[in-house]
Amino acid sequence: MTVELISVGTEILLGNIVNTNAAFLSEKCAQLGLSLYYQTVVGDNPERLKGALEQALERSDVVILGGGLGPTQDDLTKEVAAQVFGRVLKEDAHTRQRIEGFFKLWGVKPEEITENNWKQALVPEGAIVVDNDNGTAPGLILEGNQRIAILLPGPPNELIPMFNQKIFPYLHKKQPETIVSEMIKICGLGESKVESMISDLIEAQTNPTVATYAKTGEVHLRVTAKAGDEAEARKLMKPLIRELKVRFGNKIYTTEEQITLEEAVIALMKEGGMSLTTVESCTGGLFTGRLVNVQGASEVIKQGFITYSNKSKRKLVGVKKLTLKQFGAVSQKTAKEMARGAMLVTGSDVAVAITGLAGPDGGTEEKPVGLVYIAVAIQDDVKVQEYHFTGNRAKIRESAVVAGLTQLRMGILEHITL
Ligand code: ATP
Ligand code: MG
Repeated sequence: MTVELISVGTEILLGNIVNTNAAFLSEKCAQLGLSLYYQTVVGDNPERLKGALEQALERSDVVILGGGLGPTQDDLTKEVAAQVFGRVLKEDAHTRQRIEGFFKLWGVKPEEITENNWKQALVPEGAIVVDNDNGTAPGLILEGNQRIAILLPGPPNELIPMFNQKIFPYLHKKQPETIVSEMIKICGLGESKVESMISDLIEAQTNPTVATYAKTGEVHLRVTAKAGDEAEARKLMKPLIRELKVRFGNKIYTTEEQITLEEAVIALMKEGGMSLTTVESCTGGLFTGRLVNVQGASEVIKQGFITYSNKSKRKLVGVKKLTLKQFGAVSQKTAKEMARGAMLVTGSDVAVAITGLAGPDGGTEEKPVGLVYIAVAIQDDVKVQEYHFTGNRAKIRESAVVAGLTQLRMGILEHITL
């Protein structure tokens, strides 16, 4: 089955927002085993949107449209799709009720609801209405002439859960073959390294297939198999998954789709009964924030220091004045003293310290922007690593966070026997 995407919104064309919905939907379509050959971005213009939709429906079985379902004048996706499918718009009582419910929940009185909101209760005749649990505009599915159009609201916090909960199972059922996929998540190796380690497998692949996805500091491998039923597909995947586990060993932090690196790290520390203190300079709390994303992180994290100035590095975690003077704040020695100091001050089992130059200013030939030192202290053992990250300030800080998580994970693995 072929699928294509149309992202609707002038703000995407102008570059005001990044088309993250398309990235999300493409990955999901691959996971479903759908063939995706085209993606289009079109502004909030009815003629051009109509043209794009008609063209898409000529060459693909399913067209997924994102955006333009809201209450305002420039939200036209539903109107255009109804026209293309030759349907009239009719009020859907169930949707009207849900919209009323939302406004009540938000404390808006019925007389305060502006008229244009009721536009969102209009649906093309015969369309499948997909309830939106996070907003007022429902999703819509139009089926006709052996073609399907799926209309989704633009805000990612509405589109993503709606797709995962309702559209994914709908498309899964439409597929004649069962497609099963598994995710293997790797940290501490770059994408080209990972690819070179499996180039023979990629070359030889037919069914199952393996595809790589690079994230900051991580590489994800998706293994996908097609078969008559799920059990058969899983059987096909087994030898390949076993082989990947042999090749990547403990660089694999999870084989679960939903698990993030920070969750894997927190889980590992919980298993080992370890407590953690963080001390951050250039990441300024980003590392701790990432760990705190994880539910139950409080069982592990004892304290976090942000020691941005030299003075705070000395006062809070006992970095020596001489060390700062001789080697500077961005140095192996400072990173080590930060980690050891933080561990001793708080009495935790483990400490992670991050110090570096996020730029764009402040770099020298000797210490260029992107230079980061990360130290992990576990009892008497303090290990420090030097990194050279590229990109802008945000990218360098994010890379440092992921490297910190990876280094912490490897450190714990060395110290505990599970
Ligand atoms: P609303 O009811 O909020 O108007 P909508 O379905 O009409 O929703 P749009 O008006 O097209 O959607 O977009 C609303 C917001 O959703 C945008 O301002 C943007 O923040 C986000 N958004 C829309 N499309 C995308 C996209 N392709 N990728 C990421 N974010 C998007
Ligand atoms: Mg809108």
